[in-house]
Amino acid sequence: MRKVKIFPPQVWRNKETMYRLIAAKCTSCGNVMFPARDVCNKCGSTKVTKVRLSGKGTLISYTVNYQSLPGMEKVQPSYIGLIKLDEGIEIVAPLTDVDENLREGARVEATIRRIRADSTNGLIEYGVKFRLVENEPNR
Ligand SMILES: [Zn+2]
Repeated sequence: MRKVKIFPPQVWRNKETMYRLIAAKCTSCGNVMFPARDVCNKCGSTKVTKVRLSGKGTLISYTVNYQSLPGMEKVQPSYIGLIKLDEGIEIVAPLTDVDENLREGARVEATIRRIRADSTNGLIEYGVKFRLVENEPNR
């Protein structure tokens, strides 16, 4: 069995990105950056503020992964989606509670799920996965 090592300081450093979907928004040009940056990658301005993304978006495309990373063997196959968030950002993230009936263009939302477990001390890492939105009101 492959060994998995989770480093709590690393998880802590990434907490805003991984758990709360914190992005940065440039107050000069309106550009939204995720993960958050201190300098706008469009206009170079340092006037950026942190914004929390809605976590809702549309599934653009997805892939089914039959190989698993160490610590993720229980989730097989795993679905990885390319998601366009409502704020205009495209991200690649794991999908959860989906099967082969998944279709592109579906509405998805972020949820916190178990990502993997440390094989030596039982630490469990959680993170954002996306699930289908059921019966979302017309937008
Ligand atoms: Zn800018």
